[in-house]
Amino acid sequence: MNNQQANVIDSSRHRSTSATSEASEAVITNAMTVDVEDYFHVSAFAKVIDPAHWDRYNWRVEDNTRRLLRLLARHDVRATFFVLGWVAQRCPALVREIAGAGHEIACHGLTHRLVYEQTPREFREETQTAKMLLEDIVQVAINGYRAASYSITARSLWAIDILAELGFRYDSSIFPIRHDRYGIPGASRMPYYVQGAHGARLLEFPLSTKDFGPVRLPVAGGGYFRLFPYVVTRTALASINRRERLPFIFYLHPWEVDPGQPRIAASRLSRFRHYTNLAKCEWRLDQLLGEFRFGTVCDSLAGLGLWPAADVRTVSRSA
Ligand SMILES: [Zn+2]
Repeated sequence: MNNQQANVIDSSRHRSTSATSEASEAVITNAMTVDVEDYFHVSAFAKVIDPAHWDRYNWRVEDNTRRLLRLLARHDVRATFFVLGWVAQRCPALVREIAGAGHEIACHGLTHRLVYEQTPREFREETQTAKMLLEDIVQVAINGYRAASYSITARSLWAIDILAELGFRYDSSIFPIRHDRYGIPGASRMPYYVQGAHGARLLEFPLSTKDFGPVRLPVAGGGYFRLFPYVVTRTALASINRRERLPFIFYLHPWEVDPGQPRIAASRLSRFRHYTNLAKCEWRLDQLLGEFRFGTVCDSLAGLGLWPAADVRTVSRSA
């Protein structure tokens, strides 16, 4: 840690105990999440990379995840890692390493297929396989699910019923925005019980957004974290904590801290979304971890009274 970073962390701690409004901000635990997949899994490249060829690419997910683990350890932050089944099948030791460092393991599906491009039967089979795979590796119940590219939308709400049926206890796949690939515009911005197409209810931690006048922007991670200047992210997230007195959920992928990854010949828009500011991402994440309080999704939900506090540190396999 250099002096500049140390100052940021120290001043943040000082601020959080020196003023009443900032002190209440300090008790809000935001959720830090990582979607564990490699650079060739992303939906933006799905048109140019056949999943049947994934094994031809050099994996970088192990090294990049370890970079994130080291950074989280330096800040003493426990996060939730939504692990893609494809990665877990090939790197079970990495999954155990993440869990061994005290983080929560959750499910990012098996093959990164978009939910609304699957039949309910295919989705059930894939998701159950991924959940059991992760549970066999870490020997604890997997409670959380996040869909590939946040693909639970109004037309795939049947997935909520299936997730509840499979024993998941929360979902974090719904973006309350309008976007070309995902989103349910008008959905709640804060944790709530979402109802599936067939009536099941499941706790939902939607991806965080902030309204700027009539425009609702995603401000808590991924490409947006890299595209916007850091001060935009920090200001928007601080406003969620201070003005709304609510937690936000932040998300990132291991490939986003890897400026040296191979370049894929995809569309101009996809390349812009994927490659912009990769070299700045780890530094920004370091800043963010120093300026806000983070925990797992369950830690954050417990702070809202939506998750049993007793479950937070001792999650055991229920079946
Ligand atoms: Zn993903």
